[in-house]
Amino acid sequence: MEHFPIFLAMEGRRVVLSGGGEAALAKLRLLLKTRARITVHAPRPAPEIADWAAAGRLTLHRRALAPGDTLCAALFYAADEDAQEDARTAAIARADGALVNIVDNLGDSQFITPAIVDRDPVTVAIGTEGAAPVLARAIKADLEARLPATLGTLARIGKAFRKAAEVLPFGRRRRDFWADYYFAAGPRAMDSGGEDAVQATLEDLLARHRHAPDGAGHVAFVGAGPGDPELLTLKARKALDTADVVIFDRLVTPEILELARREAVMIEAGKQGYGPAMSQDAINDLLVRHARDGAQVVRLKGGDPTVFGRLDDEIAAVAAAGLGWHVVPGITAASASVAAIGQSLTKRARNSSVRLLTGHDMQGFADHDWRALARPGEVAAIYMGKKSARFIQGRLIMHGADRATPVTVVENAARPDQRVLATTLEQMPADLDRAEMTGPALTFYGLAPRAAQTAPAHITAQERA
Ligand code: SAH
Repeated sequence: MEHFPIFLAMEGRRVVLSGGGEAALAKLRLLLKTRARITVHAPRPAPEIADWAAAGRLTLHRRALAPGDTLCAALFYAADEDAQEDARTAAIARADGALVNIVDNLGDSQFITPAIVDRDPVTVAIGTEGAAPVLARAIKADLEARLPATLGTLARIGKAFRKAAEVLPFGRRRRDFWADYYFAAGPRAMDSGGEDAVQATLEDLLARHRHAPDGAGHVAFVGAGPGDPELLTLKARKALDTADVVIFDRLVTPEILELARREAVMIEAGKQGYGPAMSQDAINDLLVRHARDGAQVVRLKGGDPTVFGRLDDEIAAVAAAGLGWHVVPGITAASASVAAIGQSLTKRARNSSVRLLTGHDMQGFADHDWRALARPGEVAAIYMGKKSARFIQGRLIMHGADRATPVTVVENAARPDQRVLATTLEQMPADLDRAEMTGPALTFYGLAPRAAQTAPAHITAQERA
């Protein structure tokens, strides 16, 4: 790091700038946001600078900078846009002990001005050591879009309320109060009634949190998606950010677990292939026990919690214990897998419905409406279908399915080790045996990868960009 970011206290500090053109204006617009005492030296100042001087916002000297003009200045900007003049003024300021910035001259500057996202008092400074201004601008634009314009106002009002909030015990209770303010109640109040409403809301919110029954735990059933952390929803990320306890499935990848709050207790409730490694009752008990203790529990499930995830059993257990819960959907394996092969799940004139099937259920191989599935043009996404491949093939052929119907198996969808096996109903079991898939795999009946629609069975390890 060649430049170290700091936030400088500007109240009453003396800042001198030499220059009266565009570069000077750009710097002054930023400096005028602070409470520094600003002096400008410019023989021919732009009209805006003269206006600011007339309004008493800065002191203007309509002459070139001379020795003695930068005494006691903390910062000096050489903004004459003339290399010779900038070198002259910078030398004067340096001799007086000011930190010097020469506009557009990184090498001779002692400090640089970052790209700034201003949600005062929340200020984000972005620097790239001058290496990639385009990147700094892109990051700035991204943050500008993400941080609501009202954030600064909320933070300013919130800051004045910090003392009052100390009636709440330090730790989770206080954190919950502030999270509620910044992410829920505050923005809502701001939208409906502006600053006055925010102030009133803070008082109400504090009263509510003070009298909240101690230890009101909660369970969020959160979809972790197929494995790529970028396929998590923003709501899932927020839930992970605030979790006290995370109870996760074997399908959830380490990259996603990494995103949980550092202090969160992480519990694996793994189930493998057939039969659970931890019984469903034990998982239900875990959820209830931790929420009863007052924890914000995140029940993190691979894909979408509403798809083959025993969600109803868990909700029933949590609800029966009188605890609050909600569901955060995720991207299911079928969506991720179909994206990987460039197809859509439904298509006009091919299939107007798609079935999500499980290869097996609690009793063993799962039965389905094979006759309907065997009809031409049907598409099914088969979860947990690897071990039941022969059973499924047999049932479909018995009910008249075409042996040449395309079948695609996507292993580790949306993960770096994703593989696609394109085959036919006839070849599926043998090809699966050969492929020796060990990761989670989803089988599409009635779909071929877009690029390989006419190619014979093949397997590819897909490189993801
Ligand atoms: N709730 C999950 C499904 C749980 S059942 C979801 O919505 O995706 C577990 C099965 O999902 C696995 O046996 C496999 O068939 C499928 N699956 C889950 N993640 C997968 C992935 N990344 N790639 C391929 N299949 C996956």
